[in-house]
Amino acid sequence: MGNGHATLTINGVPVPVAPNGTFLGYLPVPSPTAPRYELDVRNGTDSAHLTVPVRVPPARPDLALTGRLVIDSSSVSPRGGSMTLRENEPIRVSVRAPVNAAAWVSANGGAFPLVNTAANTFATDIPAGQMRSGSTLYVARGADTVRLALMKPGIRDTTIAQYVSLGDAAAQTDTDATIIGRSTPAGTYKWMFVPGTIVQETGRSGDNVRVRLDSQLEVWVDETSVKPLPAGYPSPRRTVGAMALVPAAEWVDVVMPVSSPPPYLIEQDLHHITLTLYGTQATPDIIKFLQNDSLVRSLNWVPDASDRIRISMELSQPPYGYLVLFEPARGFILRLRRPPRVSAARPLEGLIITVDPGHPPGGAIGPTGLTEAAGVLPVSMKLKEILEQRGAKVVITRTTMDAVDLHLRSVIARRANSHALISIHLNAFGDGVNPFPNVGTSTLYFHPQTEPLARLVQAGMMREMGLRDLGIHYQNIAIGRTMWMPSLICEGAFLMVPEQENAVKTPEFQERFARGVADGIEAYFRLFATR
Ligand SMILES: [Zn+2]
Repeated sequence: MGNGHATLTINGVPVPVAPNGTFLGYLPVPSPTAPRYELDVRNGTDSAHLTVPVRVPPARPDLALTGRLVIDSSSVSPRGGSMTLRENEPIRVSVRAPVNAAAWVSANGGAFPLVNTAANTFATDIPAGQMRSGSTLYVARGADTVRLALMKPGIRDTTIAQYVSLGDAAAQTDTDATIIGRSTPAGTYKWMFVPGTIVQETGRSGDNVRVRLDSQLEVWVDETSVKPLPAGYPSPRRTVGAMALVPAAEWVDVVMPVSSPPPYLIEQDLHHITLTLYGTQATPDIIKFLQNDSLVRSLNWVPDASDRIRISMELSQPPYGYLVLFEPARGFILRLRRPPRVSAARPLEGLIITVDPGHPPGGAIGPTGLTEAAGVLPVSMKLKEILEQRGAKVVITRTTMDAVDLHLRSVIARRANSHALISIHLNAFGDGVNPFPNVGTSTLYFHPQTEPLARLVQAGMMREMGLRDLGIHYQNIAIGRTMWMPSLICEGAFLMVPEQENAVKTPEFQERFARGVADGIEAYFRLFATR
């Protein structure tokens, strides 16, 4: 930050300086031999120089075809970490080495050759049991040999099943205490389990535990959510009895009597919900429709496998939201929320909206040091004020700069029975993305039913702020973990761009950002107005 009239070069490349003296540049990564940015600033006869050292990864080794044998030892896998697998499960062993070398693993008294699969990559799959007592990777060419010890896997004997509880059964009735399941150890979440769901443990990788949901599917959960059950614990026998539809004023319950919570997955498209229950059988020969219901038109179930059932529901309109509950006396319950009753004249009257000023912890930082957390707070307070003027009841997740846990934010919205959760953010790019062609306004959402709200909020922001339209994006956002209401993230502007950071500090821009979002929310709820 300095003087807007100064001229700046970084490593000899001219970089424009904004009127407030800040700048944003996009430059190549310096070479490993000179890992630094040299900033030269001139203003008339004045000048200043600054050296900013950076960490540059070492260049990949040259895998020459002649001379002493060199391999890329950083590419050898698996070396670190820990893993527990079934005896016959394959472990991928790989290394980057010159194409004219030979590579093999010596394990359990045998040799397992690696195959040159692409360019300089050699790989093979070896059953975990063969590597249980330790193994060595050899790469050789002529008289040169390189040898490296590989990771020693743990072996899980699955001939006798070891059952675990996901989370604490005592938290079973806390609908906000869900356990997240992923298809890969580091992947994004796909499943949400009720605490006390019993599954079989089949493997480990670092802090992640692999569990079996039924005969065809395994998923990964955090080690912290896994509670071991005593050896010899019997398999959970889950059989869904006669299902019932129980309508209430604000929702319809699909009640599935079952003795313990099944692992499940809910899939949703516009007028359909499909519920898959894993490790579960069904004998629902009677489906009780307690009274004619206007939301659920039909309900069918099919046994997808001997231990999996799929229940599909045809709805008369898109589901507004839903909640999964387990009540020991009633069973597994899918609660489908009805859309709110809305008046065309004052669409927001009486609705509950949760406004979430994004961060802290974390968040972007602008060139003058404005944090995203500080930048979004006045916008959120203005949004609250506007929504209240239009008749809504507003819950705000923070009013100070104290950190609020990311997952608590959607819990706050759910507990308040909110009709929408609106999270206010300012955007930034990670390293390696050229910001200049990519800055503007965007909206992120996760649930299919949020899409119309996302479009209208994006349109509202475009009208008021006039930045580039980056559109709406489906993303696996954390606030989307509550399905009870539409929820989205507004990325109004880019905090890392000097001009946009500057605008965020002005009451005029804050007001426009807030009004754009409020107009979008209002337009969305008008869609539900009874004519
Ligand atoms: Zn953010």
